Formats: sequence, structure tokens, C-alpha cells
Amino acid sequence: MSAIGRRNFCGCACAAALLTPGLAGAQAGPASAGPADPALVEDLVAANRILFDQGVVDGFGHVSARHDKDPNRFLLSRSMAPGLVTAADIMEFDLDGTPTDPQGRAAYLERFIHGEIYRLRPDVGSVVHSHSPAVIPFGVSHVPLKPVYHMSSFLGAGAPVFEIRDAGGPTTDMLIRTRELGHALAVALEDHPVILMRGHGSTVVGPSVRHAVFRAVYTEVNARLESEALRLGDVTFLNEQEAAKAMVTNAGLVNRPWELWRKKAMEGR
Ligand SMILES: [Zn+2]
Repeated sequence: MSAIGRRNFCGCACAAALLTPGLAGAQAGPASAGPADPALVEDLVAANRILFDQGVVDGFGHVSARHDKDPNRFLLSRSMAPGLVTAADIMEFDLDGTPTDPQGRAAYLERFIHGEIYRLRPDVGSVVHSHSPAVIPFGVSHVPLKPVYHMSSFLGAGAPVFEIRDAGGPTTDMLIRTRELGHALAVALEDHPVILMRGHGSTVVGPSVRHAVFRAVYTEVNARLESEALRLGDVTFLNEQEAAKAMVTNAGLVNRPWELWRKKAMEGR
């Protein structure tokens, strides 16, 4: 492979930046909050597998959890395909996106999505970022993503669309690769559970890993159903009151699909 070919390959295929020697070597990282609750780590691993099994993430995308011992730390896999993540791959970060103990492992380029949302949203316990395909058209068109059925009632207040050109200008590679871009995304999210990212994907948040996974799965399903319904003609969406009531009902039922999805995703290995 030529030098140019190697450069191009790296530029296209590297999903992660290798951590600088300073982070892995002489300079101490931020202090660790200590071991996270094993049940939280277990849920985070299962979330990675489920999101892959349910078609929300593929080789790309990631899910994090706020650390149970310190709200200023979060847990996120090292840079790898989510469908292959194990507990040993989970790393701890501060809200700036700096790992507490990198051990030479690569971190996701877009980890700033997670840290900056945790910083602005104390109610958020988990963040899912994906490029799930059915959602993409709603980020690039002027058709709003709205709940077509009760399972996606959390979309009742709508989903804002993040325009990266507003924060990063017209020449970005579309990725949230800096704290500044992560902050702009978190500001645009406001108090919504979902934000679409034009020409890129979406980010979904919830109070727990299970809630965030539930919402990420049904955001993708709703997008698929809404596109189908729009082809048929005028669409009646859930109104504000229906969405609010259905959201309360669903919030108490997240464990039912979770157990099914977890079993299927974990036993498929
Ligand atoms: Zn992305």
C-alpha cells in the first residue's frame, strides 16, 4: 500500500484516536471513583449487545452509563464494535472525556457526546449514540420525528435536530470530536430524550441504561413506522396528553423487553 493509501485508509477506518502518550504514561489521569456497581457494568455490557442485536448500532455507535459512585464520572467501552463488548472493555472517564486509567486503550472519538450531556443533564444516567438508519431521513428533511404509537410516546415533545454547521462551521467531518461540539449538542438537546444529528445519527438519553436502551430501540422503530405511515397519506400522531400518559405507563415496563432482548443478545454469542 502506498503512503497515500495508508493515510487514506487510516483517515477513513480509524474509529478512534489513540490516546496521547501523556495520557497513558507519565501524566496521571483524573482520579477514579473506584469500582462501579457490578450490576451497572453488567447492564452496560448487555446494552452494547442488545443495541447491536436490535439493529440500533452496527460496528459504530456507543452507550455509556453515569458512574454510580460519582456523578462526574461515566463508564464507556474502549473503542470497539458494541456487539463484542465485555466487562473488561469498560473504561471510566471524567466529564471532559479523559480516561482515569487508559492502559493504552483507544477511546471513542465521540466520547464528548456523553461527558457534555452528563454535565448539563443531572437527570440523565445513560446515553446512547447511534447512526441507526431509519432515523437519518428525519435529520436531513423537514419532517419532524413524532410518536406514531404508544411505545415511542417519549417523542411526544418532539426531537430537536442538531446542525453541526452552527457550532463547527461547514467543514467538519460530522463527528462530535471535541468538548466544544459535545457542549453544543448537549445545549441543543435541552430537556428532550432524543436529539437527531443532521447527516450523522441521533443521541438518546434516559435515567438508566435500561430506559436509554428502550428509547433508542423504539426511536428507530418509530422512525421506520412513521416513514411507512407518511407514504400512506395523512398521519395522526399521539397528542400531547396521550404521549404523556403512555410515557408514564411505559417507564414502569422497561424491564419486560429488557429481559427478552438481553437473553436473545447474550445467548446468541
Ligand atoms: Zn457518530
